Amino acid sequence: MKTGFTRHLGSITLAALIGLSFVASNAASADDTPAKQIFGKVQLPSNSAPSPIGFYAKGCMAGAVAIPTDGPTWQAMRLSRNRRWGNPAMIAFLEKFSQDAAQLGWGSGILIGDISQPRGGPMITGHASHQIGLDADIWFTPKPAQPLSAQAREDLPFTSMLDKSKFLTVNSTRWTPTHAKLVMQAASYPQVERVFVNPAIKKKLCETWTGDRDLLGKVRPVYGHDEHFHIRMFCPPGTPSCKAQAPVASGDGCDKSLAWWFTKEPWAKPKPDAKPVKPRFITLADLPKACAAVLAAPAASEQSATFGTAYVAPQPQSGDAAIQQAITAGSTDLPDNAIPIPRSRPVLQ
Ligand SMILES: [Zn+2]
Repeated sequence: MKTGFTRHLGSITLAALIGLSFVASNAASADDTPAKQIFGKVQLPSNSAPSPIGFYAKGCMAGAVAIPTDGPTWQAMRLSRNRRWGNPAMIAFLEKFSQDAAQLGWGSGILIGDISQPRGGPMITGHASHQIGLDADIWFTPKPAQPLSAQAREDLPFTSMLDKSKFLTVNSTRWTPTHAKLVMQAASYPQVERVFVNPAIKKKLCETWTGDRDLLGKVRPVYGHDEHFHIRMFCPPGTPSCKAQAPVASGDGCDKSLAWWFTKEPWAKPKPDAKPVKPRFITLADLPKACAAVLAAPAASEQSATFGTAYVAPQPQSGDAAIQQAITAGSTDLPDNAIPIPRSRPVLQ
């Protein structure tokens, strides 16, 4: 067991290595620093072999790669968040999925929301999971043919698939069969473990999906997820440090577990006399031990860690406003400009 002294020293070393002056200047309480603050400040991935470490909601990631901000069939959104990092298996998967989405008629591909931070770990805002580079959010808004400017990627509002005037109901003017096909396409890959959607969306799929009903079991109802859906991959082969999730039950999941979401229980407010729960943030000590080493490891450069850099996106044109209007209105019928042809892409092992 470590003594307080060595732990203290370790914190200082770590702080020095990753340049976190606030930890060093306050070393006495460094062990209490929420891990999300430490991981949230790291700008680049570790220059090491790719490895998901721990569980989706309690872990970190070594050797991440970034998906390029632009590809022929995808765009990464909210670039300022610096969360387009993932396990190479996830990034390669997103490329493939984006091509399949475009083939389905989902605009010219997908808009990609958060994947993970450069070294994974807990985040300051949003998400309990997304910590090991195997979770990704995909917008329920197709990629327009013309690239969005960096600013538009920050500002473009999310479009909910729900009719907010009703209780847990899909907005039937926004939700289309292509939306359903897109979610079920995501669930169809063997490397995808679960797909999270709002309970109203799951119900809609239960009522309308005529394809493989067993695949529907992978699509799990959860709070939120009405303006994006969330793809979770299995631990890739040969990653013993990755902790698998219990498998989903067999069947389509259109059962009592779904019906529960339509009762009052999941939406009940805490009783006024209930004792307030004091939040306790996850610290580095709560995460797998290897996560300290991940933080301390030397960084890879952004360019070397970006999954293929050969593709050069066409420059945004003056159509941003019109495109924004079209996609805010939920239309999948976007200008059908020629999809640029990618140059050859490097193969990641
Ligand atoms: Zn998510």
